[in-house]
Amino acid sequence: MTFESLGLHQQVLKALADAGYTEPTPVQQQAIPAAIEGRDLLVSSQTGSGKTAAFMLPSLHKFASAPAEASEGKTPNQQAQAARARGERPRFAAAQPKMLVLTPTRELALQVTTATEKYSTQMRRVKAVSILGGMPYPKQMQLLARNPEILVATPGRLIDHMESGKIDFSKLEILVLDEADRMLDMGFIDDIELIVSRTPETRQTMLFSATLDGMVGNMARRITRDPQLIQVAGSSTKHENIQQRVHFVDDLLHKNRLLDHLLRDTAIDQAVVFTATKRDADSIADRLNIAGFAAAALHGDMHQGARNRTLNALRRGQVRVLVATDVAARGIDVPGITHVFNFDLPKFAEDYVHRIGRTGRAGRNGIAVSLVNHAEGVHIKRIERFTKQSIPVDVIAGFEPKKAAAPRSRPGWKPGDNRGRNGAKPGQRTFAKPGGAPRREGSGRDAGFRGQRDGRRDGDRG
Ligand code: ADP
Ligand code: MG
Repeated sequence: MTFESLGLHQQVLKALADAGYTEPTPVQQQAIPAAIEGRDLLVSSQTGSGKTAAFMLPSLHKFASAPAEASEGKTPNQQAQAARARGERPRFAAAQPKMLVLTPTRELALQVTTATEKYSTQMRRVKAVSILGGMPYPKQMQLLARNPEILVATPGRLIDHMESGKIDFSKLEILVLDEADRMLDMGFIDDIELIVSRTPETRQTMLFSATLDGMVGNMARRITRDPQLIQVAGSSTKHENIQQRVHFVDDLLHKNRLLDHLLRDTAIDQAVVFTATKRDADSIADRLNIAGFAAAALHGDMHQGARNRTLNALRRGQVRVLVATDVAARGIDVPGITHVFNFDLPKFAEDYVHRIGRTGRAGRNGIAVSLVNHAEGVHIKRIERFTKQSIPVDVIAGFEPKKAAAPRSRPGWKPGDNRGRNGAKPGQRTFAKPGGAPRREGSGRDAGFRGQRDGRRDGDRG
């Protein structure tokens, strides 16, 4: 299977060759031809499976194939100049994007914009810009004045601009909701509905989500027309290329010592350490820096400029250990991340899946290690139920927990359940019943676990 055979425009194919993409991923193989046909799409597939290209390539194909517009080509800037030349006071002309991509976080929006730039290098006429919370207002106005074809935005800030007449969606052809489940989790439902209500009914809508159940499914049905359902084989929660393990710790001191030890593993290229709170992210990053690791924190209390600088330093390899909260790290796609450490377990099993998905990008291998108090065994069990995988327990000589971990099942984890690069040794203990049939969750989500939500999460309303 090649990108050519999917019917993409020559300009898109050239950019893909330059980017080193040789073959479409499974989700791209299914989504691209359907999107080129103009179908609405509802897509779920695991993180790192190439969803950005799945919606962006057919959209760029459409723009590349469209005849050049003669009279409408004037940007708001040119219109303003023309008005000045006529001796009139220039009136602000609203940007009229053809495509809108909504994402839950700023980082994700920037990543989509960067990917779009990569896929559109051969297309002079196409500009993509991100409109994000935290970006200086004059800068946003400047970006909108260029009348970009493609707008990538978090819902909150976009609405500010819509309400003040800076953006007009009457020319919108394509609407994408990326990580729709996450946007709903973050409370963006009303914002999304409002934005959708301002777009033409004739638009093409593509929705991407880890799950298409429940609230996401309801919204998806309301905003799409005769959508093609694409669910790529394999659970969206299984990361089979990522080796997972659990280390038990007695207390915080033990945890800190073990983290330092694990981070000295020479197999680590780059790592993300997840913490429960913003304050912990800062203090652990400080501590690791003092210990000689090139560490940096990333969380929602940081200014956008600082967040961008940190992410760029991570991409350039100047930061080796990123210490992050869930929302800030969501969607981060840095190929050098070989290891994920859960310094604290996430509140929700689905966040565990998103966390470990920061490693093992684009089919590479990765390692995900959770440092767990004895009392947190029940959380691990919930994660195992959610992912339908058992997570082996590992012990490192010199770092043995004083209290022996109490396994919830007989020892004898069977190989093949969750094998990564090193595999788990026979006899390692897990919490899941060995070889037992995985428990089916009706919705694919663990309702009990989600029910424990509290206000401690690192909110990031665009
Ligand atoms: P998702 O949104 O499904 O989590 P992304 O769109 O962020 O995944 O893509 C994950 C990584 O895979 C990115 O680094 C992207 O450049 C890369 N990628 C996507 N499609 C291909 C492909 N066909 N060939 C090679 N790499 C790809
Ligand atoms: Mg994505």
